[in-house]
Amino acid sequence: MDSHQWPCPSCGDDRDFVQPPCVDGHTADGGECPEWACADCGAAVVGGSTAVAPVAARLARAA
Ligand SMILES: [Zn+2]
Ligand SMILES: [Zn+2]
Repeated sequence: MDSHQWPCPSCGDDRDFVQPPCVDGHTADGGECPEWACADCGAAVVGGSTAVAPVAARLARAA
């Protein structure tokens, strides 16, 4: 399985990210699934972006 190191906004440090089995059909046409999950805490990122949905939601509510 492929893995990448990215700064995890949830862990607050660099973490290994792994690709969970794609359930959205991204790989059906031979493409790459853009979704990655932190191997430590399970936080999901898309394409290496650190815009994690739960964090974005929290920021939106705080504004
Ligand atoms: Zn996918
Ligand atoms: Zn993490």
